Amino acid sequence: MDEIERFVNGVKRRNIGQPEFHQAVEEVARSVLPYLKKIQDPRYKKASILERMTEPDRIVVFRVCWEDDKNNVRVNRGFRVQFNNSIGPYKGGLRFDKSVNLSILKFLGFEQTFKNALTTLPMGGAKGGSNFNPRGKSNNEIMRFCQSFMTELHRHIGHHIDIPAGDLGCGAREVSYLFGQYKRLTNTFTGTITGKGLSFGGSQIRTEATGYGSVYFAREMLKEKKDAIDGKRCVVSGSGNVALYTAEKLIELGGKVIALSDRDGTIHCAKGLDSDQLDFIKDLKFNRRESLREAAKEHEEIEFKDDQKPWDIECDLAFPSATQNEIDEEDARTLIKNGCMLVCEGANMPSTNKAVEIFREAKILYGPGKAANAGGVSVSGLEMSQNAMRLSWTRDDLNYKLEEIMKDIHQQCVKYGKDDSGQIDYVNGANIAGFRKVAEAMLSFGIV
Ligand code: NDP
Repeated sequence: MDEIERFVNGVKRRNIGQPEFHQAVEEVARSVLPYLKKIQDPRYKKASILERMTEPDRIVVFRVCWEDDKNNVRVNRGFRVQFNNSIGPYKGGLRFDKSVNLSILKFLGFEQTFKNALTTLPMGGAKGGSNFNPRGKSNNEIMRFCQSFMTELHRHIGHHIDIPAGDLGCGAREVSYLFGQYKRLTNTFTGTITGKGLSFGGSQIRTEATGYGSVYFAREMLKEKKDAIDGKRCVVSGSGNVALYTAEKLIELGGKVIALSDRDGTIHCAKGLDSDQLDFIKDLKFNRRESLREAAKEHEEIEFKDDQKPWDIECDLAFPSATQNEIDEEDARTLIKNGCMLVCEGANMPSTNKAVEIFREAKILYGPGKAANAGGVSVSGLEMSQNAMRLSWTRDDLNYKLEEIMKDIHQQCVKYGKDDSGQIDYVNGANIAGFRKVAEAMLSFGIV
């Protein structure tokens, strides 16, 4: 049994029944352990840094009790995984989805620790959420759930302790209800939650940041190959916050967005969506909260494929931006066979480890989520800075800072991911750069 297998088996033994967490740790171990062997620096091993990094600082689990519109008492489970605060206060989103469990939140909190280290800003890693399903709930039900969730969570967070934000199923509406309840319970107005509305301490560009950042990262990867986004056929999965702002930036930079998807299926528009069609879809998903199927009913050029993922549509660039493990081995093979040259992950861990192996073997440009989607948390970090200084920067300022941060993250990947032949492995680059930053801080603290 080699060292990686031994390490991963230990993590599996200590975290039974948590496959997503195992998957995220294994991916990091496959980069970091060979790197430690190569650099021959005994400090990290001696201090068991990687073992310590795979154990969260603490996990809070709590009951969330609320009343639905028919006066039924409903019970959900709330979580906050405070993974690692070595380089700054805990920071990471809240996910509201029926699939939420400890395995998923631990994988997300673990990844967040590395991602936040890459952003150049002082933020530790965390993640939280609930198995509450916001689909089909009324505004009042959402509000009552969020208030109950925050009634417990507020004891564990704070602007110097832990700063949550939104994630899947937790958008502007939910963040507003959560912040309102936090403010009411603590009688303070601080930057304890990010992704806030612009009228109460939110930052310009935060809504767009993950999608825009993902496209900026893809642009940097293409630049390395002396190529550009202009004229490329792009497939984007999802049609939520990340996906739709990815599509918006791609269209702005001359890309042809030929597909988007949701839980019901995929839309295909061979000539590429135009800005008016994208605006229609934004209204459909953000305001009307309906299925993409409706877009096909209203626009002739758009075809709807029921219950299908978008990966068999021929494309140059793929932006998985919906959820974890949405690209499996077969999808990865199909993408390669159809000539896809770049996969840039807007979502967290959207590709299975087998799919990632296929991308790396094919030597296409592959930007892992912890680097490519770090734009969102970066602007959240900038929202915290603005809140602390009690001022607001302009949209242009923030867009410029976001572009610079994404370039910096790309450079870190190049620095730690370039092999002797000059090929850049972005997975190794992101894992090693993130590891080094957090590990150095942990070493400085001694055995804690
Ligand atoms: P949203 O809830 O806004 O959108 C998610 C989209 O993905 C929706 O269109 C949803 O479909 C679709 N989707 C979700 N689950 C599935 C599934 N099992 N099968 C098919 N489609 C699915 O979430 P976000 O856009 O905020 O987040 C998307 C991903 O990006 C997540 O992995 C998240 O962790 C990651 N991320 C988000 C950041 C952010 O700033 N928001 C930051 C960094 C990463 P439907 O419309 O039918 O519900």
